[in-house]
Amino acid sequence: MKLSNSYERLGDIFYETVLPEPVKDPNTFLWNRKLAEELLLSDSLDLSEKAMAQVFSGNTILSGTEPIALAYAGHQFGNFVPQLGDGRAHLLGEITDQFGQRKDVQLKGSGRTSFSRNGDGRYALGPAIREYIMSEAMDALGIPTTRSLVVITTGETVYREVPQPGAVLTRVAASHLRVGTFEYFAARQNHQALERLCDYAINRHYPDLQGCGEERFILFFEKVMKRQIALVVEWMRVGFIHGVMNTDNTAISGETIDYGPCAMMGVYSPNTVFSSIDRHGRYAFGNQPAIAQWNMVRFAETLLPLIDKNEKVAVDIARSYLDTFSGLFKEQYLKMMSRKIGIAELLPSDHQLIFRLLDLMEQKQLDYTHTFDRLTRSISSEATEKQIREELGDWYAEWLLRIGHVVDAEPQALMRRTNPVVIPRNYHMERVIQACLESGESTAAEAFLDALLSPYATSSKTRQYQHVPADADIGYQTFCGT
Ligand code: AMP
Ligand code: MG
Repeated sequence: MKLSNSYERLGDIFYETVLPEPVKDPNTFLWNRKLAEELLLSDSLDLSEKAMAQVFSGNTILSGTEPIALAYAGHQFGNFVPQLGDGRAHLLGEITDQFGQRKDVQLKGSGRTSFSRNGDGRYALGPAIREYIMSEAMDALGIPTTRSLVVITTGETVYREVPQPGAVLTRVAASHLRVGTFEYFAARQNHQALERLCDYAINRHYPDLQGCGEERFILFFEKVMKRQIALVVEWMRVGFIHGVMNTDNTAISGETIDYGPCAMMGVYSPNTVFSSIDRHGRYAFGNQPAIAQWNMVRFAETLLPLIDKNEKVAVDIARSYLDTFSGLFKEQYLKMMSRKIGIAELLPSDHQLIFRLLDLMEQKQLDYTHTFDRLTRSISSEATEKQIREELGDWYAEWLLRIGHVVDAEPQALMRRTNPVVIPRNYHMERVIQACLESGESTAAEAFLDALLSPYATSSKTRQYQHVPADADIGYQTFCGT
């Protein structure tokens, strides 16, 4: 495995050079063969399974690699924390995948660093399985996300509410730059470092901007903002609730990152929250667009000194871009929602059709995924049509009339591409993790993943994961501090 590390060249205030803490008895629990192929690992990494477990637990450091823990800050639940950083992660380096894209390879749960504060630097197996399944499911749904290459069990115990087996997860990401990375240097008023960081991010993620001179900073901001908008629209498409949209968990690349207390919405309600610590619903399903916008305001603030030397001018420029957030979001959200109901060319009169459907779903406590799946199938199945007609009443008749007027497009095919049949539902996720922990085997996770990797077509694999008991999500809670 050939790893480079371009981040190291930024200078040592950006990270700490630190080795992973060895673990007792590393064994491979989940291995993502497909991702390994994409990363061209099998060509370059000719190791026995035992040796692989040593590498991806952090016990063996491949020659030429120098692991680092990245420095970053962040707003957590609205409060600024000037220093967070990788408290339980080590960036091994970067690898070029089969598409020529540079990817970070990072160990998570690999021990303490100078950013650990009171944490133990470790990751429990349950949450590592959860992150692996969730991130791979999101990728299969077509949503930008960090990926999971491998879960290694450590043979050690980590102490949370209850003692749990320990694990190290290898995360693969377009990069680990976050809004919080920029906040770290902005808070220290280190404008030179900030500029270096921007140029690094531009070079890595938005190379088109390299020739844009002084304007590159605001254009960089605009690109990041647009990717955040696109990302959150995608979350809303499938009912994903991130759960902890702090600025340190907001990737500059536009990928979903940090699968801590995330969950999937079953019954539709914009107020849906599962995270045990999110008592005020800051990160509720329907609040995600507003939070993404809030995070982008924080991001813009970090760039002000680069946008213009005159602060007032910089603020005015930044504001003119930030002011476009709501309009852009609404436009893309409506476009996405219209595809969910089979309309490729949205008309202004369709807005109320979309919002009335959402209202109905909320009032009648209908499942978000099931409703769109049924709507899709109702076009060709009389039995499904009868069922959904009963649920949606007049709305259904009106919708049929509308899509009857769609020309040059196939509503059902469009809906099928937009509406998944299977998502990583909380109920199944918990049962699968439980089965893995009880048996010490990965069979249940592999079977679940197998279904989640083809989320847009019902099959013998998906069927057992499409449904849950009616009360499955009542009282369901997810946790940070995993
Ligand atoms: P998160 O809530 O996972 O985004 O983490 C927030 C911060 O806490 C980051 O700086 C993490 O590196 C750090 N952190 C979380 N869990 C641990 C842990 N078990 N040990 C050390 N640091 C941790
Ligand atoms: Mg985080």
